[in-house]
Amino acid sequence: PVKRNQEIQEARMELPICAEEQIIMETISNNPVVIICGETGSGKTTQVPQFLYEAGYGNKDSDNPGIIGITQPRRIAAVSMSKRVAQELSLSEQEVSYQIRYDATVSPKTVIKFMTDGVLLRELANDFLLSKYSAVIIDEAHERSLNTDILIGAISRVLKLRAELSKEDGSKIRPIKVIIMSATLRVSDFTQNKNLFDVAPPVINVNTRQFPVSIHFNKRTPNFDYVSEAFKKVCKIHTKLPHGGILVFLTGQDEITLLCKKFRRKFPYLMQNQYNSKQMLEKEKTFREVEQERESLNSKEADFEIEDLDIGEEELEETELLDTDSEDFEENLENDEMIMDEHSRPLYVLPLYSLLSTHAQLRVFEPPPEGTRLCVVATNVAETSLTIPGIKYVVDCGKVKGRRYDVATGVQSYVVDWTSKASADQRAGRAGRTGPGHCYRLFSSAVFNDQFQQFTVPEIHRMPIEGIVLQMKAMNIDTVNNFPFPTPPDRDRLRKAEKLLQYMNALDEDGRITELGRTMATFPIAPRFSKMLIIGQQHGCLPYIIAIVSALSVVDPFIKDYHLDNSTNSDDDVKEEEYEEVRSNELNKLSEEAILQKERQKLIRKKFYDVQKKHAGLDPTSDLLKLLNVVGAYEYEGGTDKFCECNFVRPKAMEEIRKLRGQITNIIQMNCPGVDVCLDPKMKPPSTIQLKAIRQVITAGFIDQIAIRKGLIDKSSKIFSSTRNVEYCTMWGNDNVFIHPTSVLYHNKPPDFVVYQELHKTSKVWMKGVTIVESS
Ligand code: ADP
Ligand code: MG
Repeated sequence: PVKRNQEIQEARMELPICAEEQIIMETISNNPVVIICGETGSGKTTQVPQFLYEAGYGNKDSDNPGIIGITQPRRIAAVSMSKRVAQELSLSEQEVSYQIRYDATVSPKTVIKFMTDGVLLRELANDFLLSKYSAVIIDEAHERSLNTDILIGAISRVLKLRAELSKEDGSKIRPIKVIIMSATLRVSDFTQNKNLFDVAPPVINVNTRQFPVSIHFNKRTPNFDYVSEAFKKVCKIHTKLPHGGILVFLTGQDEITLLCKKFRRKFPYLMQNQYNSKQMLEKEKTFREVEQERESLNSKEADFEIEDLDIGEEELEETELLDTDSEDFEENLENDEMIMDEHSRPLYVLPLYSLLSTHAQLRVFEPPPEGTRLCVVATNVAETSLTIPGIKYVVDCGKVKGRRYDVATGVQSYVVDWTSKASADQRAGRAGRTGPGHCYRLFSSAVFNDQFQQFTVPEIHRMPIEGIVLQMKAMNIDTVNNFPFPTPPDRDRLRKAEKLLQYMNALDEDGRITELGRTMATFPIAPRFSKMLIIGQQHGCLPYIIAIVSALSVVDPFIKDYHLDNSTNSDDDVKEEEYEEVRSNELNKLSEEAILQKERQKLIRKKFYDVQKKHAGLDPTSDLLKLLNVVGAYEYEGGTDKFCECNFVRPKAMEEIRKLRGQITNIIQMNCPGVDVCLDPKMKPPSTIQLKAIRQVITAGFIDQIAIRKGLIDKSSKIFSSTRNVEYCTMWGNDNVFIHPTSVLYHNKPPDFVVYQELHKTSKVWMKGVTIVESS
């Protein structure tokens, strides 16, 4: 019997999916695979696991003793949803737990387990029957993440096996139930694909009480500066329209941090005790008056107001100062401060993006403080994974930042591009959960109609696939060509991925997985990095390689220099090229305070460059050794936030590196008897001999990503004192590539051969994570 507290019980009853519990459970019990479609916020993620639980799934004494597994494409969702479900069921975190790449709360008591799709995929390699599960829910299938696609394909095979085996001996193994959940109705890739499920699975549509959302397009589409555009729009909403939360969609952390800062200056929210009581009363009075005025607008007037907003041209003195074309952003920030809006309610501003700490992420679910308006500035994690209560206005920049990957050359780039029509509609839908809402699109309807694709391209068509090919081989799927992909990738790409894996000796000549390949597949990292671990072991520098590949698998922990000031254009492009020039900013025409500010910035900058030098100092022949140095120093000094601050690294990234190091070390201890390795917080810096070994391991790991100085081929005798503008060529593309200005090699004599970790295209193709290849 489930005990839920009153409040939660009431909230549940409001969820559309709860009206369908009976139908859902009947369909699940009569079918091996069921697809559930329902708008974001209808209760799929939080409720369906509970339905299963209440029906006896996960109960050791029932017919379905295995646990309930539920996968998410994003870690943030796996963690926060498991917490929420534990709370709703009044169960502990050991009972309703999560497992993500670096972290887990699972225990023998676990009955419901949230995990990222990657975690389940790796479990499949060890246990293709998924025998510890009685039901698996694959959530957010509409996102078509690489792992989700592979999971669905693999699970279609698991189903058959489990069904057959249970026919042989039902007391040993029971059939497994599979539930695929999607926020859109576009599920034909799953239902109509005979290769996947020979009998089309039933689709249950959850009727959502979705309130109407009026869509307002901009008349014009701003060229670049949608952040300023979003700022203006939110100011207007906040000062003119009735209460209700605002959700802004931007593309990344930098933009979000910047916009939050601007809002906080303009509509400051002070803690209650920061007001003296008289001030507070007065403020409260003004708020109430303004609010009443707004409430008194009848809906028609409100609509008129809203229509008005679209013009974007109409006078509103304060925001006019924020000219979109203004290039000096610092100036803008100062202006914001000056025009702090006294008469508006404070805006309770919360950022939401995946690198934010879980604790900070969970704040969006709490009601905003009395007398404030909630404004969440988010990436597309808020598009479908998390539902923020009380949102009435959505401001959508229409863009999404995604990794592009050139299948032929391996060149990656982060591109901010238009999202799809389906995504934009999902975003708009966020405004209609609690009542009629409004969505402001910061682009014109013409752009929407002509330039937006209908749906987002599945990830499998735009990401490297050698990692999942190895995973599949580890599941003994030998002919990946026949694998039931929901939308298969090019045969040519599959062949290429197999080639690369053969090259690494992970596969034999016939494409079957080798012992080495099996070991590689047990690590939650790219095959290349697993391979480096194995070579590292042979070279006697394993602990260092563990630290390096952990750091490489997490995002770059170093804060970029342009994050030190409030610069808006933090996009890789211009700035990185002008890496050195940034410092020499003119000081004229600035007020005293501004000069002080500039001086402070200069000091920070100096400290920043000193720190970069310090970490590069270990051995200025490789960016990867700089990473190693910072990881080592961080542990040595106890892994404090203070360390991160002084060393210009991101605490969350450092923490994840630490966890991944621990996890990799564990896997080695468990799977590689005879290898003696432990996590040493006081790891000594490597000796000269070890450094050489480490460089060799790096070279071996990236041997297919070698670049040669062009001058060497051309036999040009030109002598360079730095690598600036020195051309290199790679084995793959025809473009010249360059050493990135943030590299430790940048200011030195250009080496003849280097290996690179990644190619990034902005104005040029840059090599990042560069290591000198020694010619000996
Ligand atoms: P779906 O998966 O269909 O998008 P969810 O099950 O995620 O829907 O959400 C259902 C409801 O539960 C939403 O209205 C959401 O606001 C609420 N909810 C989810 N997580 C939390 C949480 N941590 N705290 C409070 N409310 C939450
Ligand atoms: Mg969900």
